[in-house]
Amino acid sequence: MSADCLFCRIVAREIPATVVHETERVLAFRDINPQAPVHVVVIPKEHHLDVSALAAADPALAGELLAAVAQVARAEGLEHGFRTVFNSGADGGQTVFHVHAHLLGGRGLAWPPG
Ligand code: 5GP
Ligand code: ZN
Repeated sequence: MSADCLFCRIVAREIPATVVHETERVLAFRDINPQAPVHVVVIPKEHHLDVSALAAADPALAGELLAAVAQVARAEGLEHGFRTVFNSGADGGQTVFHVHAHLLGGRGLAWPPG
């Protein structure tokens, strides 16, 4: 737990969020600024900087994160498809430095993104 990390504070329930899925090690909640009809953020409860750090430190947890993405996609009815994005670092557009998967769906998503 990092006291100055927004997502650690959501895990600690110090900041409210609309939680849609939770396991012992993973949490999923709705993005506060949704970019699609379904926009869920999926995180490990443990603090890791980005997807590279998570994969290096705990590959099993990275797998649990992806399993949670799949479970939420199913629960949200995204049988026609969805997009999963890990923004990493400044060039990747990462603004919260606690690894998270964006799960986006509920409409046709252009590729490449605008
Ligand atoms: P990043 O830009 O780091 O990939 O994504 C961070 C995401 O966190 C953004 O999509 C942003 O809307 C979301 N976010 C920022 N603050 C909050 C918050 O307080 N609650 C929730 N639910 N999402 C947040
Ligand atoms: Zn954190």
